Amino acid sequence: MKYYDKLIFELSKESRTAFSLPEDKFGGNLSDIPSDLRRKEGPLLPEVSEVDVVRHYTNLSQMNFGVDTGFYPLGSCTMKYNPKINEQVSSMPAFARLHPLQPECSVKGALEMVDALDGALAEITGMKHFTFLPCAGAHGELTGLMIMRQYHMARHDEGRVKVIVPDSAHGTNPASAAVAGLQVVTVKSKENGLIDVEALRDLLGDDIAGIMMTNPNTLGLFEKDIKEIASLVHGCGGLLYYDGANMNPLLGMVRPGDMGFDIMHLNLHKTFSTPHGGGGPGSGPVGVAEHLVQFLPTTKVSGFHGNFAVMMRAYAYILMLGKENLPLAGQYATLSANYIKESLRDAYKLPIDSICKHEFVFDGLIDDGSAHAPDGVGATTLDVAKRLLDFSFHAPTIYFPLLFHQALMIEPTETESVETMDSFIDVMHRIAQEASEDPMILRSAPHNAPITRPDETTAARNPVLKYQDTI
Ligand SMILES: *Cc1c(COP(=O)(O)O)cnc(C)c1O
Repeated sequence: MKYYDKLIFELSKESRTAFSLPEDKFGGNLSDIPSDLRRKEGPLLPEVSEVDVVRHYTNLSQMNFGVDTGFYPLGSCTMKYNPKINEQVSSMPAFARLHPLQPECSVKGALEMVDALDGALAEITGMKHFTFLPCAGAHGELTGLMIMRQYHMARHDEGRVKVIVPDSAHGTNPASAAVAGLQVVTVKSKENGLIDVEALRDLLGDDIAGIMMTNPNTLGLFEKDIKEIASLVHGCGGLLYYDGANMNPLLGMVRPGDMGFDIMHLNLHKTFSTPHGGGGPGSGPVGVAEHLVQFLPTTKVSGFHGNFAVMMRAYAYILMLGKENLPLAGQYATLSANYIKESLRDAYKLPIDSICKHEFVFDGLIDDGSAHAPDGVGATTLDVAKRLLDFSFHAPTIYFPLLFHQALMIEPTETESVETMDSFIDVMHRIAQEASEDPMILRSAPHNAPITRPDETTAARNPVLKYQDTI
């Protein structure tokens, strides 16, 4: 039996404990507690020794995968290594113990940090000012689109109710537009993965509030027609929104403000390094060009002041790299992605042959082994992802973007050594070899992970988060 087959309640043995308290610690005061507030029976807790508790939680932590345990090439998510100094800075008691209701005069240092971060991000992006209220990228998108609406309403231009979103966009883009009360219009990509400028031209009119884009796009390709796109959209009276989740490769190189964007968000948890597995914590500050500063939110779009500790980490990260080294982050991320892409294109289908930025997309295996499978079914992208887990690599993003049927989206980031990337490349080659010889090895993977192939939809919709027994 493996350690994870036993749960802590099952390890329980009557009267085994992991603590010792003085006998009469609470004895004398019990009568102060009204009898109807007192427990009738003791709580049902596992009775375990200290070493049982330590082993149990340490083993549980090993069942999880994190950037601190291995390579995590999850495309679009920028799972870069988070330097530990960020944690030290953000957990300094003078910051970590602040209370959002403290009087302003007692939080001058924190305000100064936010102001300095605003200045740094403005310089990095070419925006004028940021609001730090939004707590995630998607939250920033919604806030940014509300700013876009306010701008048009202030100009008595209420007919602008449509937002153009490319078909390669991250799913949060159309979702945020819908939540902001705007209608989504899709613009096609061309064969080469870039926005079809002629198709865009046909969509423009006086009902367009703006366009949402990320650049490089979700295929990792730089939208080189951005200047033309900006002048077309501005020309029809619309605004340009930049989804800054893909800012990583552009750090210190190109600024969204200079590309013509009016509003944008950054994912501090991605580009500026905060551990963000499992959905949090995040920060999605929204920046605007000078002509929109008056539309930054003056009321709250989140509780209190946003995710302060994530801002601290971003500030520490920027200061540690400095102006000189910040551009290197993006350059190395780009180099890493191209290195892996070129090393694996002999075994995986590369639908768009172009220099990529920080990430790229394969469209499944070149030889999926279907010729050798007893049932004629070859190995899919899901099977490759599952097999990677057997080799202690996190899987890449799969089946996104939706432009290809077997999408496998790889983002190595700048923080991986060439040795780590080489061993990933070796394993990916080995998996491709296995697929072509015996795809069943992949189709039944993972073979040595605690969980194999859960029903992901049910797991996400009805998570079972506590021990369920007769208790
Ligand atoms: C991650 C991501 C988002 C959403 O950001 P969250 O912080 O997860 O809400 C939006 N767009 C792109 C391109 C992304 O990669």
